[in-house]
Amino acid sequence: MSRPSGDPRHPRTGLVHAGRAEGRATGPVNPPIVRASTILHGSVAAMRDAESRRQAGERVQSYGRRGTDTALALEDALVEMEGGHAARLFSSGLAANASAFMALLRPGAQVLVSEGVYGPVKRFVRQFLPAWGVDACFVRADGRDIEEHVTSSTRLIYLESPGSVLFEIPDLPRIAAFARDRGIRVAVDNTWGSAWNYRPLALGADVSILAATKYLGGHADVHLGAVVANVQAWQAVDEMAEWTGASVSAEDAYLVLRGIRTMGVRMAAHEANAQLICQWLGEQAWVNQVFSPHLPSHPQHAIWKRDFRGGCGLLSFEVRKELADRVERFLDTLRLFGLGASWGGYESLARMEDGPSLRQCSPSPEGPVVRLHAGLEDGEDLLKDIKCAAAAAFHVTS
Ligand SMILES: *Cc1c(COP(=O)(O)O)cnc(C)c1O
Repeated sequence: MSRPSGDPRHPRTGLVHAGRAEGRATGPVNPPIVRASTILHGSVAAMRDAESRRQAGERVQSYGRRGTDTALALEDALVEMEGGHAARLFSSGLAANASAFMALLRPGAQVLVSEGVYGPVKRFVRQFLPAWGVDACFVRADGRDIEEHVTSSTRLIYLESPGSVLFEIPDLPRIAAFARDRGIRVAVDNTWGSAWNYRPLALGADVSILAATKYLGGHADVHLGAVVANVQAWQAVDEMAEWTGASVSAEDAYLVLRGIRTMGVRMAAHEANAQLICQWLGEQAWVNQVFSPHLPSHPQHAIWKRDFRGGCGLLSFEVRKELADRVERFLDTLRLFGLGASWGGYESLARMEDGPSLRQCSPSPEGPVVRLHAGLEDGEDLLKDIKCAAAAAFHVTS
């Protein structure tokens, strides 16, 4: 499924061709949307043959829940982009996160979880895992204290890189080498990098989890998740998806596949806009701190440069805490930035976070934190919008 290593093509070319047939194509460019629950077989023998090949681990179309051609083409594309062995698709990113925990843990096990994980993942870890008999221990989002917390029952290290909102980056190759020596699996939520800017499996992780809802889909109109596994983790990931009936619609798989084709150019444009905004924010007296791995002041800037291909449209900043009561005015005055959850679509978004509650193992920002997603609008227009809102809320002129 994945291309042989040593593929001479630039990854940007890979984005356009991943999951499509090799050689000179004929017929429609995109795989058609195939809707089916039942897949028919020509004879009992053919049906038996399909079932036994499936039992042996071959990916054959045998029942719509496991995907028709449309979803299988998306699996192929993601496997190729991540350099994995195989992938399963889920109805949302969060469903993929939850399934990865359940696949790689059993009651009695301990899991180390980055304090930087996506909020609803934290809720799953706090509220579901203990009830299931799993001991969950949070560790620093930069992963520096992982070794200290490992016990003989640790089975999984679950990271998000960069961490949500504050973008800390764990040294994945180091952590993965440490885990491998102890038979511990490593899972990474790769939504920020979206199988494009970051490839955790190549750095030693066992599974990469994607909220394709974000950049892969790219248009704020689809929910879909994926778990891409290496050979070692694949059986556990596949079984849990089978047991719990993971399934996606052909339309949703189609939309994500379509989004992937333009992700390279979209990401570069998001990144350029975000950096323009970061630079300006860094010069403002009402801003205490800007969070982005691009900035040389970011504590893991060197790791980011080593392990990532580039960045995206996300950035955060901490407003000086004595100005906390003005932040709502700032957000309400923005015109090009919508107020809403999620990110990764073509449009700009803004959202307020509670700085002091963001981290529990490392220091949290004391002031309010604003997270921006720079969309594909013109960068100077976005900056003008932010300057106007800042003038209204913080009585500053640029
Ligand atoms: C949004 C997000 C998810 C969840 O994706 P949904 O499709 O909205 O469930 C998971 N992880 C990260 C890092 C996210 O940003």
